[in-house]
Amino acid sequence: MKIPVGILGATGSVGQKFIQLLENHPWFEITALGASERSAGKKYPEAVNWFMTGPIPENISSMIVNECKPNLNCKIIFSGLDSSVAGEIESEFARAGYIVVSNSRNHRFDPDVPLLIPEVNPDHLELIKQQNFGKGCIVTNPNCSTIGLVLVLKPLADRFGIEAVNVTTMQALSGAGYPGVASLDIIDNVIPYIGSEEEKMESEPLKILGSLVNGEIVNCDMIISAQCNRVAVLDGHTECVSVKLKSPATEAEIIDAWKSFTAEPQKLDLPTAPLRPVYYYEQNNYPQPKLHRNIDKGMAVHIGRLRKDPILDYKFVVTSHNTIRGAAGGAILNAELMVKKEYIKP
Ligand code: NAP
Repeated sequence: MKIPVGILGATGSVGQKFIQLLENHPWFEITALGASERSAGKKYPEAVNWFMTGPIPENISSMIVNECKPNLNCKIIFSGLDSSVAGEIESEFARAGYIVVSNSRNHRFDPDVPLLIPEVNPDHLELIKQQNFGKGCIVTNPNCSTIGLVLVLKPLADRFGIEAVNVTTMQALSGAGYPGVASLDIIDNVIPYIGSEEEKMESEPLKILGSLVNGEIVNCDMIISAQCNRVAVLDGHTECVSVKLKSPATEAEIIDAWKSFTAEPQKLDLPTAPLRPVYYYEQNNYPQPKLHRNIDKGMAVHIGRLRKDPILDYKFVVTSHNTIRGAAGGAILNAELMVKKEYIKP
């Protein structure tokens, strides 16, 4: 029997991606949908402006959207709630015994809440044991740009150490939710501001790459400077990254660190894990969101253009799918890891 899951924020950009990715999932089955009062009580197709490719899955079409109250028939809650309401609703569900796997920023820095990327810090799941929600708990996904960045930093941090990172992003429209940025604002344009994004990118990696010492996360001692831009791409965030390493490395050693990187989700053969978390390309015009975002289930991160940086040590370009690896797919992988590690018992 599959584990029943509910989607909160089921009508949004991330919620729709959850519904698409969970169709035919081998372990999880959607049994409940939640959204705002505007949508509650309606059949899902009447509540949603569906903009995924392909139709709404048949079993979902007949479901009624609920209010986000902790009386839903499911064990796991995947939350794609707007951050203006996510914090309290997610706590209520955890208190009521649900396993909450969230994409919102609200609980990311709670000291007892893991900010999880299964390939990077699976050991941080231990923090759950300190939570006071009874049978329930909260686990969070990092920000969508942070996930792509940290997945490529991790192999370098392990092998050479990282002192400093300078990153400039070109972020897709789906990252702004639905309806997102007005077309008149973004067509023929670049918007050099995404609210709170730079602060998230400069702080979240320090917790994720931090170490668990005596039940507490000790942040890693790296300094990050981020500049974030919205561009007219539908899906897939691209990031131009420069790094200063702690010990010297050749280009070949860096590429080898990326190409040979494999981690817990691959070893455990989790259903949503990419075969390889990181792909490196030699072509000097790669990676590109349109070409690479969907490779390996949309769960891999794509790197190219590694070269010397005259200010720091090296620079390169990264692309990853923001609503798959950076949100719904990442959250599903978190839950799969929790099942395999028996934090969630069927
Ligand atoms: P979105 O498209 O704006 O969707 C927001 C969802 O929240 C909708 O389902 C909406 O329901 C629901 N909602 C709004 N107000 C509510 C209320 N008062 N009570 C209950 N539900 C309410 O946003 P999104 O892009 O999917 O993002 C969702 C969350 O994930 C955000 O916290 C965002 O920061 C985070 N995130 C997004 C991405 C991305 O790439 N998009 C990546 C990582 C993390 P109605 O339709 O009924 O209003």
